[in-house]
Amino acid sequence: MTTTESTPTPAGTSAGGPAPVQAVDVLRAHIRDVPDFPKPGVIFKDIAPLLTTPAAFAVVIDALADTVDGHGATVVAAIEARGFLLAAPVAYRLGVGVVPIRKQGKLPGETISRTYDLEYGTATLEVQTDAFRPGDRVLLVDDVLATGGTALAAAELVRQSGVEVAGLAVLMELMFLSGRDRLAPLAISSIMEV
Ligand code: AMP
Repeated sequence: MTTTESTPTPAGTSAGGPAPVQAVDVLRAHIRDVPDFPKPGVIFKDIAPLLTTPAAFAVVIDALADTVDGHGATVVAAIEARGFLLAAPVAYRLGVGVVPIRKQGKLPGETISRTYDLEYGTATLEVQTDAFRPGDRVLLVDDVLATGGTALAAAELVRQSGVEVAGLAVLMELMFLSGRDRLAPLAISSIMEV
């Protein structure tokens, strides 16, 4: 979660070239900053206005799908919960399937899990053991990259499943938290840097 921030700028992508300026502007216009949520000092990046504006949602999803084209993903993995809302349309655009990476206890059947540290306490993510096929290249999708702890746990789950992480795609990257460094050398694509 974020406590301070600077002016948003168009993000680059480690896959190739900057995101279209239009998508950055559209995204910026449809994100609501909610101060002190879920706790004092945090500025929550609320994507609800984006989700309820079909034309804006289409521009941003298309841009996200375009920025990850070079990753050669064979499947998309969606990080609970807002990642689900973005990963499914991106997977549809890429013509691949989508696998949910969920919080503990939500998935039926055999799963593997990864526990990681939060600011206070821990969280656990899970994926079904038969979610991926041999040789898959997995694109992780979420709304916000902050400290990188969530994405790192998701990436470790994918690798533990015996397949490769092709990259991470997010709408926003909170630069001052340096999540990218924690995930290096993973290819990270974002529409907007904050
Ligand atoms: P982190 O593990 O610190 O990179 O946090 C990333 C996860 O927490 C993502 O699933 C985000 O949805 C959520 N998150 C972290 N910070 C924020 C924020 N400022 N606004 C909205 N979501 C956030």
